[in-house]
Amino acid sequence: MGIRVCKFGGSSVADAVQLRKVRAIVDARPDRLFVVPSAPGKRFSADEKVTDLLYRADAATRKPDPKGLSFEQIFDLISERYRKILADLGLGFDLTPALAEVHDRIQGGAGADYAASRGEYLCGLIVAKLLDRPFVDPADMILFDASGRFLAEETQQRVADRLTREKAGVVPGFYGALPDGSIKTFSRGGSDMTGSIVARGVGAELYENWTDVSGLLMTDPRIVERPRTIPSITYRELRELSYMGATVLHEEAIFPVRIAGIPVQILNTNEPEAPGTRITAAGQEGVPAGRVTGIAGRKDFTIIALEKTLMNAEIGYGRRLLSVLERHGLSWEHMPSGIDTLSIILKSDAVDGKLDQLLAEIREVCQPDSIEVNPGIALVATVGRGMSHQPGTAAQLFGALAAAGINIRMIDQGSSELNIIVGVENTDFERTVRAIYAAFADTPASRS
Ligand code: ASP
Repeated sequence: MGIRVCKFGGSSVADAVQLRKVRAIVDARPDRLFVVPSAPGKRFSADEKVTDLLYRADAATRKPDPKGLSFEQIFDLISERYRKILADLGLGFDLTPALAEVHDRIQGGAGADYAASRGEYLCGLIVAKLLDRPFVDPADMILFDASGRFLAEETQQRVADRLTREKAGVVPGFYGALPDGSIKTFSRGGSDMTGSIVARGVGAELYENWTDVSGLLMTDPRIVERPRTIPSITYRELRELSYMGATVLHEEAIFPVRIAGIPVQILNTNEPEAPGTRITAAGQEGVPAGRVTGIAGRKDFTIIALEKTLMNAEIGYGRRLLSVLERHGLSWEHMPSGIDTLSIILKSDAVDGKLDQLLAEIREVCQPDSIEVNPGIALVATVGRGMSHQPGTAAQLFGALAAAGINIRMIDQGSSELNIIVGVENTDFERTVRAIYAAFADTPASRS
């Protein structure tokens, strides 16, 4: 029997009602052997995540809390969350000693990472009890080096050894340990990473990532009303969309499962029957060919456009331009070029305060005939693995933008033919996303 690893996000473990759903989901299949819980998240929009409370509690041991509470008052809020969950679940389990230890160690200065990690740790103890499975502490197997860099291969070995012995278990998300045994967390949202590591370690057949949305949406629901769900997407497409602002999974969480070729299924704890979204490597079974998978974008880029007669014959022109950026520690996003033109696209906040200096240096080393700056550019990426096999995608895209009267300031198609990026004025951003969505929402890749 293949193994499934189930990671549950903060809203899936926010209270007893949600935790009962978790139990029903895990009990529904015998292959759901390993469970990775986050810390309890928000129960309502004005609520505070336990992780945020823990960061506040730690900070309050050193300086006044911004909301005016003492360390003890913040810690009481945290204890109360867990005590209520336990009481509502009716579990005969005493969390008092664990809470007391966490209290004393945070108060004793164990640090922000230790404090934050206890959200998952305490939740893991409860989930292990609820599911009647062994609790496995990731501090014993998820390893970082002394500088805080995650040690993927060493971890993989340890996780494989340890969890193969356990056969089933609950592994709290978000943290591991430094060589001296002290706790180290991943960046925020890092329980996704733990789930991915556990899936790779046990050689899972599927990594189920349970959230509060029924999969990835084809575009941002704040811009397009009720966009379609993406039934399947490749790791590479997801990376392109995440980079442009679509968020569902922690950015790095893809890497462990991707190395091992394990698919990820994004599922909804509140709607467990919905198929969700499957993330796989290209070419794996169940990936239908189609044109557009998703559309994502971001505002606030700056285009610096240079023009110079016979630029194409001038050896080293691009290098000189890029060396100016390098001196300023700037990374560029895109660099479309023509025969005598070259444009650089950078994030506007990255050039804030240094633009004048930058332009002066570019003028000096590149001697352009003209240099034009436009700071208010939005980029919109249309991503689809099937684009390279179907002529007409670009025509359809540009046709839709022309019909909507949108002026395109820049076009870049990655060499993988996986996406087409257009630059438009910030003020045209939402209209651009809507026009592209309307043009492609009915293509086969997006039909669910
Ligand atoms: N609890 C952590 C956070 O809020 C990690 C996670 O939920 O994935 O960022």
